[in-house]
Amino acid sequence: MNLYTSCFVSADRAALERLRKIPRLPRSFTPTPIDELARLRESLRADARLLVKRDDAIPVGFGGNKIRKLQVVAAQALEAGADTLITTGGIQSNHARATAAIAARLGLGCILVANGQAQEKPTGNALLDRLLGAELRYVPTREARAPAMEEAAKELRRGGRKPFVIPLGASTAHGAAAYASAVHEVLANIPPPDAIVLSTSSGGTQAGVIAGCQLHGVKTRVIGISADDPAAVIEGAIRGIHRDLAALLELPDDTFAGAAVEIDDTFVGQGYGVPTPESTEAIELCARREALFLDPTYTAKAMASLIARIRDRQLAAGTVLFWHTGGQVGLFA
Ligand SMILES: *Cc1c(COP(=O)(O)O)cnc(C)c1O
Repeated sequence: MNLYTSCFVSADRAALERLRKIPRLPRSFTPTPIDELARLRESLRADARLLVKRDDAIPVGFGGNKIRKLQVVAAQALEAGADTLITTGGIQSNHARATAAIAARLGLGCILVANGQAQEKPTGNALLDRLLGAELRYVPTREARAPAMEEAAKELRRGGRKPFVIPLGASTAHGAAAYASAVHEVLANIPPPDAIVLSTSSGGTQAGVIAGCQLHGVKTRVIGISADDPAAVIEGAIRGIHRDLAALLELPDDTFAGAAVEIDDTFVGQGYGVPTPESTEAIELCARREALFLDPTYTAKAMASLIARIRDRQLAAGTVLFWHTGGQVGLFA
């Protein structure tokens, strides 16, 4: 037993070994750095130590949590013999851009089903989607997305191609497995933080981090800050992903059922992507104090909650890790 593993006496070693063996892209996208947020801490007069996990700095396709999930999900597609990735999101979807980037790197085709109207002069993620060579198909509503993906897949199959459909946000068991593994990456570098704060929406990232903490036997609190949906909706999604992840790791269905799923849905404001005074302050503070760029839709609202918790002393001691999930391209939308 080495020093690292001996720290985690209650870790489920067999499950961690199965997790380690799940195929992922053989490229050095990760590990990502962990940085000290000393100047932010000083300006907040925080007693807690503040750290940031830089998944915004993954050096492929402008990074972000979707690239990390796709490290595993795209490997799954390759194993299935896929020649085209199909996915969906809004016009400015980080996940769609990340999928287009991974497809380009792997030499796969990419069809993106986007709800909304094509921009005359594409900006932000939509601009990158075009540069990456993805085929865009527009649908009028969110409800029309899944059927349009199935339609595209059928069409490709009729032409003898092998499409692989990736659900919204790549929040599958495989996507969550990427984040469960990422917990190992954190614990290999720092002692278990007291709290991890991250943005949450389709739930795959938070589901993975919670599962990873449990499998390693660490008691880190994982606080997800909603970008859109009510806490109960996201919790439902996370519980579902946990059941699928347990199956993927050959564990009993209810392995993660006892885990706390902590979600704060009080920083959404007027809605998805709509700035709030707190999210605007978070963006400016992190830029000016740390040259750390938050995105307006996800990470700014998560950081706004972290800042509020420091100020009202809910997070007053120990180490708090902000998991930056990317999205900075959204600043140029
Ligand atoms: C998609 C996304 C999230 C939310 O992650 P989920 O796994 O869908 O909950 C958070 N931050 C950014 C920047 C994202 O693009």
